[in-house]
Amino acid sequence: MVAFFIAAYCIANERYPMEVTPHSVLEHTFGYSEFRGQQEAIVNAVIGGQDALVLMPTGGGKSLCYQIPALVRNGVAIVVSPLIALMQDQVEALRALGVKAGFLNSTLSAQEIYDNEQALQSGTFDVMYVAPERLIQARTINLLQHSQIALFAIDEAHCVAQWGHDFRADYLRLDVLHREFPNVPRIALTATADTRTRQEIIERLALEQAEQFVSGFDRPNIQYRIHPKDKPRQQLTKFLRQEHDGDAGIVYCLSRDKVEKTASWLQAEGFEALPYHAGLSAEIRAYHQRRFLREDSIIMVATIAFGMGIDKPDVRFVAHLDMPKSIEAYYQETGRAGRDGAPSTALLLYGFEDVVKLRQMTSNNEGSEAFRRAEQERLNAMLALCELASCRRQTLLRYFDDDLSKPCGNCDTCLEPPKTWDATEAAQKALSCVYRTGQRFGVQHVVDVLRGENNERAKQYGHDQLSTFGIGAETPQQEWKALFRQLAALGYLDVDREYGSLLLTESCRHLLRGEKTLELRKDTKTTTKRSKRQAIEIDHEDLALWHALRQCRRRLAEEYGVPPYVIFHDVTLQNMLHLKPNTIQQMLEVSGIGDAKAQKYGHAFLDILREYEYKGTD
Ligand code: ADP
Ligand code: ZN
Repeated sequence: MVAFFIAAYCIANERYPMEVTPHSVLEHTFGYSEFRGQQEAIVNAVIGGQDALVLMPTGGGKSLCYQIPALVRNGVAIVVSPLIALMQDQVEALRALGVKAGFLNSTLSAQEIYDNEQALQSGTFDVMYVAPERLIQARTINLLQHSQIALFAIDEAHCVAQWGHDFRADYLRLDVLHREFPNVPRIALTATADTRTRQEIIERLALEQAEQFVSGFDRPNIQYRIHPKDKPRQQLTKFLRQEHDGDAGIVYCLSRDKVEKTASWLQAEGFEALPYHAGLSAEIRAYHQRRFLREDSIIMVATIAFGMGIDKPDVRFVAHLDMPKSIEAYYQETGRAGRDGAPSTALLLYGFEDVVKLRQMTSNNEGSEAFRRAEQERLNAMLALCELASCRRQTLLRYFDDDLSKPCGNCDTCLEPPKTWDATEAAQKALSCVYRTGQRFGVQHVVDVLRGENNERAKQYGHDQLSTFGIGAETPQQEWKALFRQLAALGYLDVDREYGSLLLTESCRHLLRGEKTLELRKDTKTTTKRSKRQAIEIDHEDLALWHALRQCRRRLAEEYGVPPYVIFHDVTLQNMLHLKPNTIQQMLEVSGIGDAKAQKYGHAFLDILREYEYKGTD
């Protein structure tokens, strides 16, 4: 009897060296001492067999929400992700933690697929990443039916939203999971916040029974800045040189052509910039993405084709040289900065031509009238955000039904409150000039008429005879243009989709009649800037050691063939610098170092730390 107990005990202990609880996995595997926000509740729900819908901002810590249940529940967790190019890195990151992970997608050979499938069935894996198009094949479903499944995680779940810009048709068929595996818990995760998308996820993935976990959407470490364009290239280089020298970041442009030109120009200026857009071959895209992930200070110049799921934690800035179509897109794109929680910047430069271009794009779009109107409204909200004179973050969060009671103190309007002015009279002049010239001209001509310039062209149309000719001569051209941009942004003017001529809208009536006044923000030169500081702040006397630790990380990354952040994140290295552990046991105290990483990489770092301690006492 006793022997039986001992044997049973040994078997149990061989498989589970300690009691496997969510907290022990958090600590020993991931090296973190506490759960963040709603993580614990989510983890417990899934472990308990419940479905969950998780809406959490980028960097919030979504991955642990399925990775911990994967290790606590019996069987393998199947993670559906559209991001084939990233699966390898995700799997390597898990393996570095000692988790048995694999993936199934089209980048593998037939033999590798076969091997992974066999291993899956025999219960070798804890976590398996699968591309959606593969998952929905009858063959894969059949395979899964003969395996023990711990859970299904549907990452980037907003890909089911048909009008969203990340739509993947294969995601629509993921409801098969519900039908074929009614007893396996499913957890859907996304960083997309709007309620419409949330509703679509619930309906299409049959998640009516799922518990919903909606986190606050604030990203306090990101500084939001929106400035009018004024020689954008110079604005950008100044920003890069003064504030983000040597940092990794993303520069978004609207068109492929502009991506190419901007990347070449940045290279000529001495930056390590690479282009990324859907017109490049798959190999080049993969190569550029790989360099971005594996090197420390690449600037990726890209269209929106780049970024979904990029979980590089140390992206220090996201700059937009063109305005995004909606606040959802803007928030998602800027959200790629600062996943590690360290200070980061989101800079948007925008001008009148953005307003024109986007208005034309929305009206050219195929689709129902209702869809077009919804798109217009999203654009209007984005434009209003740009012209805002109060805290940007408060407005952003309110857009996602999330409240911030006080101004944030970390956006351009908080840091440098803009001056406003009574623009009523100037707006009346501008709008009546549009009216008098017949709503047939673009902004340049109307401004010329207001300033009484370019007489030849004005004469040609008889505009030199108008009452508005020259009534704004004292105001500089640039200021008139800014006013037109603001009037268009705020919906007083529309832009003809074919010719770009300015059109009056219904809402100018009150303004023209003097029944309404208009307060606008004054355009200023881009002066707001964070005083130059490192995102990760290091004391001066620790600087040499810091560089040595980073050097050690780079060496290990090359040796293991993984990105440096898979070894340790910057914040982990920073914590190591702070604690200066002397032993492997002390190494485990460092946030982000669990058992496997301590064993695998700990000694290399201890050597460095000891060497410097010795130097320090010299
Ligand atoms: P998301 O997928 O939501 O964008 P991740 O899962 O990539 O976020 O997590 C973002 C960062 O936060 C990662 O560096 C991760 O290691 C870290 N992190 C997650 N949970 C915790 C925690 N409980 N304690 C400390 N760091 C955490
Ligand atoms: Zn603010």
